[in-house]
Amino acid sequence: MENILLLAHTEADGSLGKPALEALATALSLGGALTVGLVGASTQAAADQIAASGAVRFLAVTGESFAQPRYTTDAAAAEALCRAADCQIVLAPGTSRWARALPGVAYRLGGRVDTHATSLALANGAPAGVPVVTRWFYRQRMEAVLTRAQRPWVVLLDPGCVAPWSGTPGAPGTATVEAVSVEPPATRTTVTGYQSPKSDEQTIRPDAKMLLVAGAGWTKKQADGAVHAAEAEQLLLGFLRKAQASLGSSKSLVDQSGEGEAVLTCLTHMNQVGQTGSTPRHAKGLSTCCHGEEPHVVGWRFVNQRRAINLDAGCGWARGKADVLYVADAFEVMRHVNALLGA
Ligand SMILES: Cc1cc2nc3c(=O)[nH]c(=O)nc-3n(C[C@H](O)[C@H](O)[C@H](O)COP(=O)(O)OP(=O)(O)OC[C@H]3O[C@@H](n4cnc5c(N)ncnc54)[C@H](O)[C@@H]3O)c2cc1C
Repeated sequence: MENILLLAHTEADGSLGKPALEALATALSLGGALTVGLVGASTQAAADQIAASGAVRFLAVTGESFAQPRYTTDAAAAEALCRAADCQIVLAPGTSRWARALPGVAYRLGGRVDTHATSLALANGAPAGVPVVTRWFYRQRMEAVLTRAQRPWVVLLDPGCVAPWSGTPGAPGTATVEAVSVEPPATRTTVTGYQSPKSDEQTIRPDAKMLLVAGAGWTKKQADGAVHAAEAEQLLLGFLRKAQASLGSSKSLVDQSGEGEAVLTCLTHMNQVGQTGSTPRHAKGLSTCCHGEEPHVVGWRFVNQRRAINLDAGCGWARGKADVLYVADAFEVMRHVNALLGA
């Protein structure tokens, strides 16, 4: 097996995040000599966190200039680490920070990059010791298995695809870290702080066990001839808060805000699941008031158990797209569910 460099940036608290530990687990599974390259304001704590992993070498670009995500500084740090490590395979978690910087680094090194990999492994049929990448194309409809001859080969591994490395409980180590010095390049971007939504306004939770999806039916006239958008919003948010679920939407529902129809203010296009939306990964999903058409359902590819509530027994979910379909009024069902949850 060729030598591997794992590139990881630290989180704000100086530790390594879950995506980095997932990439570490993948790197270790390949069996080559592993070098770890760290970037951050301080890197010793992150190195110590994985000192017991079996990595043979720790390199780090450390300093305040490399604390913030920014193309110029991240690319300079990663390039210097790749040159110092001199490994054929460079693996990194597919965080927004690395996704922005590493394709440029691969170009500078004369190598190649593959993004959105879901695995990197030694596979039957490939030349001995040469790993293969799996990744999805055409909105998760086709899975490709591919390898490359060019080196260095930079691979960005999508978060959530493998169990993170968890180490030996109670056995933190002390890693010997070799400093790689990089003259901070001139920057035009100054990070002045973060603005995040209040935690109770946050509806997209990638790590949630459950995905609740809302469809356009929530804003359609109901049996009494009236629209009940306000109650719909309250039912959805009540469930989200109690179940700490993530909120997805159909395209029709999020598009309605631009068409002057009744809207749910808790939804934006960021919530859209499907062919032209996202493909979230959750253990369970519940679709409500959504028809289950193919361009929407393709976004459910990585939801393990799928359930749907629809008044229409002939909806798309009934045609093999859901594990369980409740033919029922979603208002009634969610009122009852929320009452059971105490929402
Ligand atoms: C190129 C292309 C890309 C697309 N990409 C996407 C995409 O990324 N994501 C996406 O979502 N769509 C996408 N679409 C659109 C998709 O084909 C559908 O039009 C859309 O998903 C329909 O949304 P919906 O099911 O919420 O609405 P509708 O089709 O209007 O369905 C509403 C459903 O609510 C049910 N309902 C109403 N009231 C109740 C109630 N009280 N209880 C239970 N059920 C009730 C109705 O029976 C109905 O089935 C795409 C289309 C194209 C052509």
